[in-house]
Amino acid sequence: MPTVTIDPNYFSPRDMLMLRLSILIGGVLISLFMIGDLQMVPEELVDAYVTNRAFVQLPIVFALLASSFHRRFLQFSQVACFLAILGLVYTNYYFIHVSWQLAAFSFPYEGTFLYAFFGFFVFGMTFRYALCLMLLSTAGFICLMLLDSVYGDRTFMNVGFVAGSLFIGAIGRHRLDQLLGALKSANEQLITLSTTDGLTGLSNRRAFMGESERLFALLRRSGQLMSVFMIDLDHFKKFNDSYGHQEGDRAIRCQADILRAVFKRETDILGRYGGEEFIVVAPGDGKNDFERQAAQILAQWQALAMPNEDSPSGQSLSCSIGICHGLPTDYGSLENMIKAADEALYSAKEKGRGTFVVAEPARPI
Ligand code: GH3
Ligand code: MG
Ligand code: MG
Repeated sequence: MPTVTIDPNYFSPRDMLMLRLSILIGGVLISLFMIGDLQMVPEELVDAYVTNRAFVQLPIVFALLASSFHRRFLQFSQVACFLAILGLVYTNYYFIHVSWQLAAFSFPYEGTFLYAFFGFFVFGMTFRYALCLMLLSTAGFICLMLLDSVYGDRTFMNVGFVAGSLFIGAIGRHRLDQLLGALKSANEQLITLSTTDGLTGLSNRRAFMGESERLFALLRRSGQLMSVFMIDLDHFKKFNDSYGHQEGDRAIRCQADILRAVFKRETDILGRYGGEEFIVVAPGDGKNDFERQAAQILAQWQALAMPNEDSPSGQSLSCSIGICHGLPTDYGSLENMIKAADEALYSAKEKGRGTFVVAEPARPI
């Protein structure tokens, strides 16, 4: 069956369809059991049996099915499934009681397992609810056995069967929940690993492109401005050669920290584009904010004064910045904006590094 656990975060429309289908199958199973049971129950119990199944149990199943169409169903699905199964178990107990009272007939109790296991493993009841169901179903069965000696000298054995089987089911549910929890956190770790750059904690190039494509589309639709910054460390090969790769890594992390300090808005997207090259995409407000942000990046490197003495300029480590600022509609695609920012970065390098250049505005297309 499809539903392993009803988790609002991982429940697709297809899962919902399968859950509804399994509720329907539950209703069909009850109806099929009616055909078999009616061959077995004494004449005087037929009315009580039909009333119990057709007017109580089946409506419980259909009430659960109907509740699954509520738009907040996923929030209360565990409670709904728990109450439905408990209702089925207790209506069955009630019929066992009536059978014994009216006809001294020992109606079988095994349905309890079917209802409970359907809840645990088909509806995907979590361990907490499975445990409650196990305790309440066992307690109800013990009360029933104290009330009527339906199964004579087999009473204790049957109590053991009910308690033991439901316990095994609940523990099975617990193991499943543990495995699913481990799978979920492994999945989350994998997502983080595949989208984050390990050295800086910024988005890697692939994740960055996905996020910024979405922002580009959003800003294009709303006709808002956007800025793309390409940032590259200056004479970094020399820095690595002079101070070692580890110091180089530290400088790369510094660049990421500077970018995080300058681009603080939730909508700003920061990424490590490759090597010591970074990229930032930010919604622009048109007030030359982007020039102020570029100046801040350069000022922060100056304040750090990290020596890069063997570089041709013989000064401290710096970076060059190329900026493309404009309306997404004028550029047509994010790639075109990145290309323009990259060309501006090249000009900044040519101008002597440690500076920023803003790309010529695009002509509307
Ligand atoms: P320019 O000013 O023209 O940019 O000169 P540059 O020397 O910085 O040239 P370039 O941008 O091509 O430098 C790339 C260097 O960055 C090459 C490589 O040694 C270094 N690099 C790339 N990734 C890493 C990294 O993860 N850690 C370290 N330490 N160095 C890296
Ligand atoms: Mg460089
Ligand atoms: Mg580079």
